Amino acid sequence: MIPIAKPLLGDEEAQAASAAVLSGWVSQGPQVAAFEKEFASYTGARHACAVSNCTTALHLALQGLGVGPGHEVITVSHSFIAGANAIRQCGATPVFVDIEADGYNIDPAAVAEAIGPRTRAILVVHQMGMPCDLATIVPLAKSYGLSIVEDAACAIGSEIVHTDRWTRVGAPIGDVVCFSFHPRKVITTGEGGMLTTNQPELDAKFRLWRQHGMSVSDTARHGSPKVIFEAYPVRGYNYRMTDIQAAVGRKQLERLPGIIRARRRLAACYAHALARVDGVTAPVEPAWARSNWQSYPVRLDTHIDQRQVMQGMLDRGIATRRGIMNMHQEAAQADLPLAFPLPHSEMARDHTMLLPLYAQMSEEDLNRVVEALAECIAESVGACHRTAAQ
Ligand SMILES: *Cc1c(COP(=O)(O)O)cnc(C)c1O
Repeated sequence: MIPIAKPLLGDEEAQAASAAVLSGWVSQGPQVAAFEKEFASYTGARHACAVSNCTTALHLALQGLGVGPGHEVITVSHSFIAGANAIRQCGATPVFVDIEADGYNIDPAAVAEAIGPRTRAILVVHQMGMPCDLATIVPLAKSYGLSIVEDAACAIGSEIVHTDRWTRVGAPIGDVVCFSFHPRKVITTGEGGMLTTNQPELDAKFRLWRQHGMSVSDTARHGSPKVIFEAYPVRGYNYRMTDIQAAVGRKQLERLPGIIRARRRLAACYAHALARVDGVTAPVEPAWARSNWQSYPVRLDTHIDQRQVMQGMLDRGIATRRGIMNMHQEAAQADLPLAFPLPHSEMARDHTMLLPLYAQMSEEDLNRVVEALAECIAESVGACHRTAAQ
């Protein structure tokens, strides 16, 4: 069986977790602090704040930027449902806009159209690791005084040209960037998230809110020669990462450059091999972006039956997934009035397949995937023709 994804974890991570356990300090402590420092340095951000997952990161980012009841946040429907949930957790309303016709990222022209008197922020997504068009969106947001949160759940290690220089996603181009360390992403801590920003007052808020609004951290209290009584100046949450997770994360961060090199090489192999397969279009990387290829999406011609091709692949021992979900098509968000039609989002969900891609994947397996895909597409098209002839 070829899986859709597989985290790259080894003895280094197991030993780091074991050392954290044996140290006696397992909750947020020195490992979290070290992971944050290394993460900030890797992304080029001034501040990095670790949290329990990317969904809690999105909640803190939006709340930090003052998003609340009565506000609208412009975002895509074509993304994981956590985006809209985080906006609604702040008491604000998501306004869904469409993605570009030839990709999976937010359409800047649609953002411009959606800005209104209640708009407070824009939540953009670097979908499947592919950077979105911030060079167009940032000046637009600035001209209206809007904040930008970047959902980079999948985009650690991706790069974008910003002010004529290649910049890693996370060196904030918007106000705050949110990452995920779920096993389906490029590196993992089991569950985990990170917020990066260059604004110290935002970072201070995140640190306060993630630990119950408590004025003094546990590490500071334990390390102090003087008795300290903590205070609770604001209402907070428990969104902490554990030191066991952070210890694993530090080892994952060391592996990251190698993981990204492998993923980019495999993505190039896919593009090359897929050029010879009828009925399918490989993803395009704009000249100003370098993806980490967290996922590898291919677009099927509209006459091809997505489910049938996916079933054929599964029957041949190859796991695939359909395109990214649309939040507006799920019951949980169906109460939101749609301000705009979302034809590209709906096309993308229904005619896209994600192919297996992971750092340890062999080229032999990759070629097996492409061969199977060609067969399944031919079968599906053949079945269509047979039905039409009847
Ligand atoms: C995975 C994902 C999330 C949620 O991340 P968690 O760490 O599981 O909370 C949010 N947004 C996008 C785009 C994602 O892919």
